[in-house]
Amino acid sequence: MSSARPVVPANLLRPELLGLNAYHVPPASGMIKLDAMENPYLLPQALRDEIARLVADAEINRYPDAGAQQLKAAIGQVTNLPPGMEVLLGNGSDEIIQLLALAVARPGAVLLSVEPSFVMYRMIATFVGMKYVGVPLDEDFALDRKAMLDAIQREQPALVFLAYPNNPTGNLFDAAAIKQIIEAAPGLVVVDEAYYAFARDSFIPLLAQYDNLLVMRTFSKLGMAGLRLGFLAGSGAWLEQLEKLRLPYNVGVLPQLVAARLLQHHDVLLAQAERIKQERAKLLAALNAVVGVRTYSSEANFILFRVGKATQVFEGLKRRGVLIKNLNGGHPALTDCLRVTVGAPDENKKFVAALQDTINQLA
Ligand code: PMP
Repeated sequence: MSSARPVVPANLLRPELLGLNAYHVPPASGMIKLDAMENPYLLPQALRDEIARLVADAEINRYPDAGAQQLKAAIGQVTNLPPGMEVLLGNGSDEIIQLLALAVARPGAVLLSVEPSFVMYRMIATFVGMKYVGVPLDEDFALDRKAMLDAIQREQPALVFLAYPNNPTGNLFDAAAIKQIIEAAPGLVVVDEAYYAFARDSFIPLLAQYDNLLVMRTFSKLGMAGLRLGFLAGSGAWLEQLEKLRLPYNVGVLPQLVAARLLQHHDVLLAQAERIKQERAKLLAALNAVVGVRTYSSEANFILFRVGKATQVFEGLKRRGVLIKNLNGGHPALTDCLRVTVGAPDENKKFVAALQDTINQLA
């Protein structure tokens, strides 16, 4: 068949898709992997055996429970939701961001967030055809309250995302400023608590207070990144509409079973998070002792730091077998910034030694 216009991606696909770069996941085999905010600890052997028995008996010939009743009940038990609040489950919280964006993507609809923050807000807004507006944080990575309120007034966003703590900066924004934003917003405000397990505050208790507030969490950072499970908490009035967009079997049999069981051992997961917080303090002190490094304090399981020749430092670390995240060359506010996930004690030590060695060599 001949055609004037050949059937190639550039002729067929939406320009906003062609203009995007896929979310980059670098190969990490054999490396000390401190790039993706994973929990470095395995589960205790007894619990792993328990999971193995559970998986052996799982009916993987059947579709999963589309309503995920057991898992939702387990989430309810560990989350302290205010009365009347419900949850919607996602295949990771990434999927929930997408579902929220799809729900509000009327022509001209705006998704507003802050910059720098989690890159998927912009990416998903773009590929569902929304307008993305990123309001710069101030030089300490705090919310610029006035700029936010002005942008909300001007842009009338259908959806606001605030990561609390923020990625990649690690800080909690001022809660009073977030409340003001929720009150001023003409649409939904989603507080993204991906790092809640390492932070000292949460908006979950405020859900009943604001009709336009939703809180999103993931279990990825709590030791279940491989299961892909996130949830959105809020009132049924919103969630029952969003449920229409959720593909019926988005959370598989195994993630449902395993996560529900692990949440019965929530104390084990929280104890791991506690160890990570202790390691975070030690890692922060060790980084502060490295000449030429400026750190930012963190309420998450990673630390953002600034160092001269950041990309060369990143490459030097990689050559020494340590993979972290290079943020240099992305957002201008992150020039010379690198982000390291808090690992196990020996991983953190090796990272700091490799960093010192790299910096010495570059000097
Ligand atoms: N929100 C924030 C702020 C994140 O940093 C991440 C992961 N990097 C996510 C959401 C997505 O997590 P997941 O899809 O693993 O649930």
